[in-house]
Amino acid sequence: MLFKQRDLLDKEILARFSQALSIMGSSYPRLPFYLKALADQVKAQKLRKRYAQQGLEVPPILIFSITRRCNLNCAGCYSRVLHASSQPELSIKRFEEIFSEAASLGISVVLLAGGEPLVRREVLNCAASFSRILFPVFTNGLLLDEDYAGWFADHPNLLPVLSLEGRMEETDLRRGKGVFQQVGKALDLLNGHKLFWGTSLTLTSENYSLLLSDAYVRGLIQQGCKLFFFVEYVPIQENSEHLVLSDLQKELLSQRIKELKSSHPALFVPLPGDEDYFEGCLAAGRGFLHINPVGKVEPCPFAPFSDVDLSFTSIRDALSSPLLAKIREQHHLLSEGKGGCALWANRSLVQELLD
Ligand code: SF4
Repeated sequence: MLFKQRDLLDKEILARFSQALSIMGSSYPRLPFYLKALADQVKAQKLRKRYAQQGLEVPPILIFSITRRCNLNCAGCYSRVLHASSQPELSIKRFEEIFSEAASLGISVVLLAGGEPLVRREVLNCAASFSRILFPVFTNGLLLDEDYAGWFADHPNLLPVLSLEGRMEETDLRRGKGVFQQVGKALDLLNGHKLFWGTSLTLTSENYSLLLSDAYVRGLIQQGCKLFFFVEYVPIQENSEHLVLSDLQKELLSQRIKELKSSHPALFVPLPGDEDYFEGCLAAGRGFLHINPVGKVEPCPFAPFSDVDLSFTSIRDALSSPLLAKIREQHHLLSEGKGGCALWANRSLVQELLD
């Protein structure tokens, strides 16, 4: 087993699943589905272990930016900067093949992002047919009407995760006037269908205290939120370094997440994850890989470097990408530089690996 932290990550995934089941409670209408989903996660882990014994390290998680299209234009949107391309986005046929291969390799969690993933409903429909994979769907919530809420209710292996920046003030400031209110309406629809939903919160030096406060977290839980993704801000936008978490904030983050986990009935997932616990970032296949909207396989969403393209090759072949291997071998590239993403902080060194 090349990646000894893989066992830690596998245990973490099962622990989160078990915790989600206890948060749902025995009367939760979709409990039978998620009980089977937990069993599917165990099967997937065994499958990955078998491949590892054959020398193929399969990461449990993919982050898949399925489109660059979006109905918003948020300040500092990394997708608009990093995913700009004239190449056509992947076809639905190719998505089906990629999801099918992912399932056969034991990849069991695929985060669907963008752009705005709800603009590609055909891809979500395709994902729904792979019930052994769990798909958290990161959405800005604006397209989440009654029809879509009903659709999510019928497809419990896709979990809606709505993006917020804080309260109305912070959210509308970055995402546009009226967005917070519209997200509020979407939450009501999700609660109307008793859905298990989450939120994605970008942690900056400015909103850190608010977003990690018991009052803010309790407020969202009272609104029905059961899953919190805290995404560390990465200064993709020029002159935005001041929004990066300070060293002290960074140092206190994993302890604060532990406190939230022990005091609130919800799941808390920091991204890029606890680098001390996993001895560095889980990018580049150590725990996850990123696929951009045109099929390029990248170490992470914030590191737009690639030497393999899923338009032409399989996930299996992509896993032996020389670039990904070099990044894993040069572990210092995966240990924290200044600002949310070690690879972005070390991007000139990563570029040298490609040249
Ligand atoms: S919703 Fe997401 S992808 Fe769309 S503009 Fe905002 S940050 Fe970018």
